[in-house]
Amino acid sequence: MLGSFIAVLTLRWPAGEGLGGRSRCDSCAAPLRWFELVPVLSFALQAGRCRRCGAAIPLRHLAIEIVAALIGGLALGVSPAAIGWAGAGFGWGLLALAVLDAEHFWLPDALTLPLLAAGLLAGLWLAPPLAERAWGAAAGYASLAAIAAGYRALTGRDGLGGGDPKLLAAIGAWLGWPLLAPVVLAAALLGLALALVDRARGVAVDRLTAVPLGALLAAAAFPIWLLFPTGAPALMLAP
Ligand SMILES: [Zn+2]
Repeated sequence: MLGSFIAVLTLRWPAGEGLGGRSRCDSCAAPLRWFELVPVLSFALQAGRCRRCGAAIPLRHLAIEIVAALIGGLALGVSPAAIGWAGAGFGWGLLALAVLDAEHFWLPDALTLPLLAAGLLAGLWLAPPLAERAWGAAAGYASLAAIAAGYRALTGRDGLGGGDPKLLAAIGAWLGWPLLAPVVLAAALLGLALALVDRARGVAVDRLTAVPLGALLAAAAFPIWLLFPTGAPALMLAP
């Protein structure tokens, strides 16, 4: 259900449309009945097409619903208690941001900042402790903001979106500072792998090709939360 909501949110929000209206076909605008709104199942029963106009329902809806279900299932598999629900919320927030960044290079403050606040708030009850999270938020923001400022000073171009430091701050508020470097490393490796795939497919990729860094950070952060749902192991914190 949340996946379905995220699919609609990430479609209507960048288009400046409200969320209040009824669910409708993107093609013929016919309002959808309740049985056309069951996530994944309706898509399968209607063979991926609108019942009225026959237009193909974008595969992104199905993909987002499935990924959202996986996030919830994996997080609650880690722990069926509060920590699992918190992790699922973190994952769903990351999913919405990843979709917006991949499709629009947009990481709205209205999502990154509440995600950051929720991460700090969770630190009042759940590991990692608040201090580790607060340092994570500060270091996450400062590191990318410094890289963005340095790149701009050196090249006169913007190399990083303004939302990226805020997203890494939110990720730091959830995972704690010791896991920031692994997240950035995994995101960079993922980005390089995708660039190599693009090249292999004949897509031109050079040093000025825009890459949705936020989507890569989000895609790296959730698996690392799954591995370390209560923060970095003590080993990493030892001097
Ligand atoms: Zn239709």
